[in-house]
Amino acid sequence: MSQGTSSNPWLDLAFSPVRGLSPYVPGKPIEELERELGIQGAVKLASNENPLGPSPSALEAMRAHAGAVHLYPDGNGFKLKQALAQHLSVAVEAITLGNGSNDVLDLIARAFLGEGRGAVFSEHAFAVYPISTQAVGGIAQLAKALPADDPEQPRGHDLAAMRRAVDERTRVVFLANPNNPTGTWVEKGALHGFIASLPQDVLVVVDEAYIEFVDEESDFPNAISWLAEFPNLIVTRTFSKIHGLAGLRVGYAVSHPQVADVLNRVRQPFNVNLLALEAACAALADPEHVRRTRELNRAGLRQVREGIETLGLSALPSLGNFLCIDMKRPAQPIYDGLLRQGVIVRPVANYGLPDFLRVSIGTEEENARFLSALRVVLESSR
Ligand SMILES: *Cc1c(COP(=O)(O)O)cnc(C)c1O
Repeated sequence: MSQGTSSNPWLDLAFSPVRGLSPYVPGKPIEELERELGIQGAVKLASNENPLGPSPSALEAMRAHAGAVHLYPDGNGFKLKQALAQHLSVAVEAITLGNGSNDVLDLIARAFLGEGRGAVFSEHAFAVYPISTQAVGGIAQLAKALPADDPEQPRGHDLAAMRRAVDERTRVVFLANPNNPTGTWVEKGALHGFIASLPQDVLVVVDEAYIEFVDEESDFPNAISWLAEFPNLIVTRTFSKIHGLAGLRVGYAVSHPQVADVLNRVRQPFNVNLLALEAACAALADPEHVRRTRELNRAGLRQVREGIETLGLSALPSLGNFLCIDMKRPAQPIYDGLLRQGVIVRPVANYGLPDFLRVSIGTEEENARFLSALRVVLESSR
């Protein structure tokens, strides 16, 4: 190999936009921390997973189909698409299944972005948008977030700034509602006006990974209800969060059928595995598990918010299953201290939030573990 400019000669041979990418940093796995510290019983509140686990019916479906994994899955996901179409009151042809919704985001980038084509997203937005955009040579068109002292959505998405960032290069807008890692959201009227203001040949992706955690009474948009009005709208959702199937990797997009047709052309033939297809169908048929999870989360949000306030801290507003907590100083040492207490949370410096830690809402006991570990760490670092 010839020597290039980096220490990895293969990196010099990679597609040039790929050279500038850094790998996505996931939450630290529990086993890894337990191995490193030689401890047991660590708690992970780092990846917004469902603390109740999967629905019992999803588990049962996986067991029932485990003996069939020598067979390829249904590449068209017929049964799951039928179930989703009915659940969401949309046409089967509107649905694109993915290996997690991250896969769908990647399909969108591969199909509609590429060199010279831009994607608009906000500062502090989900990390997969810049990765998927840059991996195909697209241009990241970053919009500044709302200021830290915004009275309603501090550090939330600034729709006016996002609209201004759209220019003739823009092909896609990515927007998570609620957003991860901030937890902030945009309301119905504002989002509707934003989408209506976009040129009709710019696709807008509304990522609703956390929508099932949102209380139905609030003025929160369900973007799927606007699909008939906006042919350039793509709504993505996942079974990883409230349905508790993150380890199986299954998510989907709902869009105009002609947009779905394009996504389907770049999709790998068997991108959703057989057990995931079965478990997702079963999860969808268990609204009780979803309801229980939502209620646990609501109580947990309150518990953690009150707990950190007692410690003199505050968090950004959140409608998700996590809180983005302002440590009011560099958060990395607090993260490290929490690890030593056996509690894994998520540093978000790579999201432009070096003073914040994101903590997922767990069971009442896990939340209490986090709060007491945080107290110990804060006291010992005085
Ligand atoms: C967790 C998350 C997803 C879901 O990812 P999967 O690939 O479906 O597991 C998508 N978008 C956002 C904003 C998320 O936080």
